[in-house]
Amino acid sequence: MYTKEMILSYLPEGFALIGPNTISDSTTPIHIICNNGHHWDTARISNLKKGVKCPNCRKIWNKVTPKEFETKAKFLGYEVLSEYLGAERKVRVKCI
Ligand SMILES: [Zn+2]
Repeated sequence: MYTKEMILSYLPEGFALIGPNTISDSTTPIHIICNNGHHWDTARISNLKKGVKCPNCRKIWNKVTPKEFETKAKFLGYEVLSEYLGAERKVRVKCI
């Protein structure tokens, strides 16, 4: 059994819980809003624990061009060191 406080403790920073306020186990779907405002109503604590991110944010990153990636990375304080080949591939960055 997870209470609202326990559920909130598993949400990444900036995420909000819509409901439910209690769930029976970590695989019960919860409805949350990510820090970019996406509704995600099939989120599970078991996946959040593994570091699974908002699927809508992932889609956005999938669509960016290498140039847009570089611009975003720079904005976030990173220098891109290797070629950006899509959201599923690793890319080397340096914290600046
Ligand atoms: Zn999102």
